[in-house]
Amino acid sequence: MRNARGLTGAQAAQTMLRAAGIGDVTVVPTAGMLTDHYNPATKQLALSEEVYGSTSIAAVGVACHEAGHAVQHAHAYKPLWLRSALVPTANIGSSIGYITMFLGLVLLHSPQVVLFGALLFSAVLLFQIVTLPVEFDASARAKRLAVENGIVLPQEREGMDRVLNAAALTYVAAVVSTLLTLLYYLMRSGLFGGRR
Ligand SMILES: [Zn+2]
Repeated sequence: MRNARGLTGAQAAQTMLRAAGIGDVTVVPTAGMLTDHYNPATKQLALSEEVYGSTSIAAVGVACHEAGHAVQHAHAYKPLWLRSALVPTANIGSSIGYITMFLGLVLLHSPQVVLFGALLFSAVLLFQIVTLPVEFDASARAKRLAVENGIVLPQEREGMDRVLNAAALTYVAAVVSTLLTLLYYLMRSGLFGGRR
């Protein structure tokens, strides 16, 4: 559904940045689907081509959400900083931690190795949990600033909410999925007895 003002995602993001008094963030198009993100290191707000040029309410919602991350960065919002700081550890956890859990269970049949892998892998869970307030807050800022600055009209707010709430659920689903993976390996390892 086209938004009433006919703003593209890029224009919506730029309008929101300007309204927040942010002048040093550039909005750029990027290839791929669902690749929208804000990079604090380069101060680039990258919007997927579909969002960048689209005038749909969904595109404007996504663009304003990413602008919300830029506003967080400008205001030195702590959870955003913490989330960035956790990225390297989470990357190690998701690769080495997962492989260690897997090998410990399937090949070595060693509860200790599974436990060690699970400890590394839990960095992923921590990262995903810290991600939740960052994402919810970016969406809250997006909703508030978009209406305040006339990017979306009050009657379009519901459509924007629906897009952003659906996106937020995927982050909750990621936490649940990681938690279940951890529990699966820990239960199967025999650490809590029951097997062998
Ligand atoms: Zn986000």
